[in-house]
Amino acid sequence: MSTIKLYNTLTKKVDDFTPNDPKEVKMYTCGPTVYHFAHIGNLRSYIMEDVLEKFLNFYGYNVNRVMNITDVGHLTSDADTGEDKMLKGAKREHKTVMEIAKYYEDAFFEDCAKLNIKKPDTVVPATSRIEDFIKTIEDLMDKGYAYLAGGNVYFDTSKLDNYYVLSNQDETDLTEAVRDDVTVDENKRNKADFVLWFTKSKFDNQELKWDSPWGTGYPGWHIECSCISMRELGEYLDIHCGGVDNIFPHHTNEIAQSEACLGHKWCNYWFHVQHLNDVTGKMSKSKGEFLTVSLIESKGYDPLSYRFFCLQSHYRKPLLFTYENLDNAVTAFNKLLDRVSKLSSEGEVDESAFKTYRDKFIDALSMDLNTSQAFTVLFEVLKADISDATKLKLIEDFDKVFSLDLIKKAEELTSKSAGSNADAELVSYIEDMIAKRKEAKKNKDFATADSIRDELKSKGIILKDTREGTTWEME
Ligand code: AMP
Ligand code: ZN
Repeated sequence: MSTIKLYNTLTKKVDDFTPNDPKEVKMYTCGPTVYHFAHIGNLRSYIMEDVLEKFLNFYGYNVNRVMNITDVGHLTSDADTGEDKMLKGAKREHKTVMEIAKYYEDAFFEDCAKLNIKKPDTVVPATSRIEDFIKTIEDLMDKGYAYLAGGNVYFDTSKLDNYYVLSNQDETDLTEAVRDDVTVDENKRNKADFVLWFTKSKFDNQELKWDSPWGTGYPGWHIECSCISMRELGEYLDIHCGGVDNIFPHHTNEIAQSEACLGHKWCNYWFHVQHLNDVTGKMSKSKGEFLTVSLIESKGYDPLSYRFFCLQSHYRKPLLFTYENLDNAVTAFNKLLDRVSKLSSEGEVDESAFKTYRDKFIDALSMDLNTSQAFTVLFEVLKADISDATKLKLIEDFDKVFSLDLIKKAEELTSKSAGSNADAELVSYIEDMIAKRKEAKKNKDFATADSIRDELKSKGIILKDTREGTTWEME
């Protein structure tokens, strides 16, 4: 079996994957900011992370996966400026912050369930860990990595040798990255410094505030992921995931905080999913049609055909969403299901062929999670000169990673077509009986005509004589 290779944003190359502890891979995922529904772009990231987790399992690892829920501290700009996203959501819907947090967290997991995305082993809302955040910020202050200025606590990025280790940025890029930021924060010692704890909030109506050694306030966005990950998964993390927009500043800041606390390297592999774009550019919740799972469902799409669409392309390539592209995926998905539905479970399973194709499947996914290559292996299986029973066993196995309900959907297709054959037979029988009755009536053979009516009635079929002729309905 080949070694798993994954592109690592930290080293900027494809690395062999070796977890710290071969018995358990520790995986952390940045969860959603629950101020609105997730759009299908967000869900592309979660689908591909789900595939990664399931593939690691398939390969033989136990995976312990943790996710946060951002319900405080995320401002509209990832660089500590703009409006508070949660407050914005609450205002929009005339609800409290905690009400919308609960509503959109539930909606997020409902969408995940429709897309067969497994819920992480541990899910932690940021607001449940404020004490922990305060302790970590105090620790950063004690170690000289944080300072208080103008009421807020900031992380001092100049204290690190290589703050930009993940993002390859520099101060010039930073000026670019925050050029929309009209209000320069005079409290910051360095441009890249970021807020760990806000007390001097621009938001007088900030609903959620907690006491802290620096005054009543609330945490910055980045601290939650460092704290939740270190608390749940310990000092050494194997894989950290997110969309590419998280690389800077969010993940860069997470590394800064965690490694400043720990005094050693924290996470070995950084897995980032490229964006789903629409024709106007990066998908967002505020512009254009707000593409949610419910919206595509209401247009008649099965959410799993969206999952199939995502798996067709590599996670490190931008993916363009158009309805035409989705329609093409639906056609390909249906063709695949149709081929699976034609397999019979007859024949012996050929264990040696099973192993050969299983290894090929693992080889494909070991090459930096090449999902489209994994589908090529599936099509090879369908074409191969092996028993249907072997094919079905392989498809069932591959679907532990694909999670497309391939067998179940193919069976539904078979029973649907069996159902429609049965329907066609019934209709032809009824029409035949109606014709015979008409003939009997024409011949004034009313006894036969009545017995036909009674026979159909005994089967739950009611005849109605109208001026236009005889019609029927089921009882
Ligand atoms: P948020 O709810 O904004 O915190 O984002 C949740 C996740 O979706 C994060 O991992 C983001 O990096 C990711 N994300 C945001 N926009 C997109 C997009 N257009 N395509 C793929 N992933 C995205
Ligand atoms: Zn995060």
